[in-house]
Amino acid sequence: MVIKDFQGVKIHTFVSPYAYAANATHIIETANELVIVDTQFITPLALGFRAYVNSLNKPVNRVFISHGHPDHYFGLASAFSDCKAYSLSGINEVIAGWGPQMIINQKPAFGALIPDAVVVPQYSVAPGTSEVIDGLTYEYEVIEGAESEAQLLLKLPELGTIIAQDLIYSGVHIWLGMGWFEKWAAELQQLAATEGYDYLLAGHGMPCTKEEIHHNIQYIQTAQQLFEDGLEKDAYKARLIEAYPHRESPMMFDLYLGFLFGEMGSH
Ligand SMILES: [Zn+2]
Repeated sequence: MVIKDFQGVKIHTFVSPYAYAANATHIIETANELVIVDTQFITPLALGFRAYVNSLNKPVNRVFISHGHPDHYFGLASAFSDCKAYSLSGINEVIAGWGPQMIINQKPAFGALIPDAVVVPQYSVAPGTSEVIDGLTYEYEVIEGAESEAQLLLKLPELGTIIAQDLIYSGVHIWLGMGWFEKWAAELQQLAATEGYDYLLAGHGMPCTKEEIHHNIQYIQTAQQLFEDGLEKDAYKARLIEAYPHRESPMMFDLYLGFLFGEMGSH
């Protein structure tokens, strides 16, 4: 848990163990309400996060789901199905379309640790719009073709905070299953150039500053080079671990190499 106090508004960040991909889920606590961003992957962690949410003794206004990868939305079914959930409309469609298959794919490995069915967010927000929730401004943006096809990015201008989720991997190996290296690096460059925002919330790992954006760009460029050099899977992994020995969660490679090297389909 990391708690950042902005004099009246608190952001609580709950990070799962590195062995479980360091999934980072957040609570924005304003005077009267809570807003949740993402929900954890495995059920025990989702329930642990929910227990912490409940301990704050304020109603949940809503849950935002950042994008259509199951490590961000499985917990909606296991621990937050009583809450209103929001994402971009295209992401809701991805969760509805791919979610059941994601459960089938993950059941052999995770069994009762993941839910039996998905919950799809019922509400959507439109990119380019903003909203005030319990006195705090939320700006909604879409990022396309970076870590996933589309993701929701939330800006909280009054707090100088960007909830970037999987656009940034903080201190951990980066999931590069889609192989969209250049577009992702370009989006990160643009984020780094955005003035007035110093507190960045990643989807994996601890909250960070803009310095981490530059580390991510460098990592993605290194990975692109290795991939385009035609390295085999194991050599690619070994070289990246060698280049970034201080990054945590090497299990991330097991989660994406099959996609990057074309053995499995993703979205
Ligand atoms: Zn993720």
